Amino acid sequence: MKIEHECPQCGAPIILDETDRLLSCRFCRVRLYIQTGDYFRYYFPPGKGIDDDILFIPYWRFRGMHFSCITDRIEQGLIDKTFPAVISQSVEPSLGLRPSSLKLRFVQPSDKGTFLQPQFSFKESYAATEQKVSFEQVAVHKDLTVFESFDIPITETIIKQEVLFYESFIAETLSLLYTPVYIRDAVIYDAILNEPMPGAAGDGGLDVRGAGNTSGITFLPTMCPNCGWDMVAERDSCILVCTHCNSLWETTGGGFRRTDFAVVRAAKDNTGLVYLPFWRMKINVQGIDFKSYADLVRYANLPKAIRQEWEKAGLYFWAPAFKVPPSTFLMLSKQLTLLQPDREIDDTLPGSPVYPVNLSKQEAIESTKITLANMSARKKTLFPRLNDISIGCVESLLVYYPFIETKTEYIQEEFRLGIQKNALKLGQTI
Ligand SMILES: [Zn+2]
Ligand SMILES: [Zn+2]
Repeated sequence: MKIEHECPQCGAPIILDETDRLLSCRFCRVRLYIQTGDYFRYYFPPGKGIDDDILFIPYWRFRGMHFSCITDRIEQGLIDKTFPAVISQSVEPSLGLRPSSLKLRFVQPSDKGTFLQPQFSFKESYAATEQKVSFEQVAVHKDLTVFESFDIPITETIIKQEVLFYESFIAETLSLLYTPVYIRDAVIYDAILNEPMPGAAGDGGLDVRGAGNTSGITFLPTMCPNCGWDMVAERDSCILVCTHCNSLWETTGGGFRRTDFAVVRAAKDNTGLVYLPFWRMKINVQGIDFKSYADLVRYANLPKAIRQEWEKAGLYFWAPAFKVPPSTFLMLSKQLTLLQPDREIDDTLPGSPVYPVNLSKQEAIESTKITLANMSARKKTLFPRLNDISIGCVESLLVYYPFIETKTEYIQEEFRLGIQKNALKLGQTI
């Protein structure tokens, strides 16, 4: 979906993609980073000539990865959907068809109309709409030990189904999307199509309490807060790079915040190098013994004889800091976490290109539980306990690793790891 906005500096019309965080004006050349305190909020403008009081109904808009731990395996997929964030007889489960020419607009404090508050979190909205489907989709499975260990009574229906023990959402985009309605003669109308909504008498049970306008968005010049240099940012970057004073800036609701990073030098000079960013996280896992490298070796059943010193050796979780399809994301996070790379690092940006960071630290931290599940050698006994396992991030660092660029892939020689360029290209469309 596209968003229409006016350049805050010169007023020229600008069309943005919903994943764009950078506004570049081709008229006045200003480059601004778009920020919000929590979620981006957009609305469909009502049709022309409708001057009734407009109510804006919120939907959660999710685009990202979805992982489910089912019985003894992890299934992954992409979700690109909207979910109603309020209950009402007149709120459709999906947004339905909208004219493709219809552009969204950012919700701004000056906008007229009543913006309803979401009644549910995204996860609740998702569960209400999709959960049943996830259960019906899973195949017949005869092994009943998992149900016994989870203390679920074995009934006819359960025998035909598997159990979904844990779900994780890694959102590249989670926003609120508002669609306009109005009430005329006790009938609720879609204010885009200007037609009555199905089954829509009265206000359809819409809860207008607590409704009000919400915080807007802010635009920040992409100037380095330290030296004033114009920073490097791609359309969807969540970390901006100042190559002038060698600093990295994470975007927060309140502005740019300096972020630590590390660079692993290439073993030998190579002209075809690209540095790919990864999140390295120290995670406090509660609920199972998972503190030392020895714990990891036992947990993943790695073919290694455990050495005494490994019992005390700490460990890190890893995740890519860039978007890739969910299967590649799972593979990279698992491989790197099992490898526990500990090469020497420094904090000077390399002369070679660095790949943009477009997967935030928060999303990477969220993903560690799925990585934990994915590394287990005993998924069947672990999965029922997943909801009781808690994770907390103690420290995190962005680490750039050198990869050699070939025609079709990026290769990390030391890890014997190859990432298809296609996977990165696909990731950009997520
Ligand atoms: Zn402009
Ligand atoms: Zn700078």
